[in-house]
Amino acid sequence: MKTYIVGNWKLNFTVGEASIYLHKLLKKMPNYRDVEVVVAPSTIALQPLSLQVDRHKMKLSAQDAFYRDYGAFTGETSFSQLRGIVDFCIVGHSERRYIFGENDKMVAKKVAAAIRHKITPILCIGETESERAFGETADVIRDQLIGGLSEVADDDFDNVIIAYEPVWAISSTKAAKLATPDEIAEVVELIRQTLADTYGAELAEKVPVLFGGSVNKANAGAYLTVPGVNGLLIGGASLILDEFVDILEVAKRVRQ
Ligand code: PEP
Repeated sequence: MKTYIVGNWKLNFTVGEASIYLHKLLKKMPNYRDVEVVVAPSTIALQPLSLQVDRHKMKLSAQDAFYRDYGAFTGETSFSQLRGIVDFCIVGHSERRYIFGENDKMVAKKVAAAIRHKITPILCIGETESERAFGETADVIRDQLIGGLSEVADDDFDNVIIAYEPVWAISSTKAAKLATPDEIAEVVELIRQTLADTYGAELAEKVPVLFGGSVNKANAGAYLTVPGVNGLLIGGASLILDEFVDILEVAKRVRQ
């Protein structure tokens, strides 16, 4: 399995700035054999960047999309519109869940719509600080995982990625803390066990599980060596070109 390094640019960069960043990134980075490099720009930048990106070197992801293909859904962009433009789409990010009120039912429809349009969903799950404090982490993880995957057929599990992102560790939250490798290992094991119990051991092993939460070049190596972690979902640090390139090099070294 490849190591996935996914940069989530969130609501940052104009289309011009995104294009310049991508140009510089493509120039700076080598072609990695074992590292799948993905960036997720704003929706408005995806189409122009899809013409610019070298897909042998890296791939594009959307940050979100809507599950209906067309219709009276003002402001939305559908997976059908993104088909052929992106290879991945982040689904159920905690900012979507807690700022925009997305629930597991909606997330499940988005995961299914992504797969229907040959786009790999990166399903984000993770507990809040108070859920962790009240001992609810395992229940939240199981609910978001099983809920988010509820419309995926067994045959489609080759095309699903899970990202464990504890909400309290994401740097856009007010009191972000660093997750420890042990805390991550425990939840990643729970994710694999839940997948194994629900869909069988073989299937559970082939689903990549990423970690996200204040990842930077200093901690990327430690996070990438947590048992069961197959990559990183990176917000803030992915906006800084040199930092992102350094993280790619860390990922390459960890693979060697
Ligand atoms: C994210 O929002 O997915 C994320 C992991 O952000 P950051 O790396 O800034 O914590």
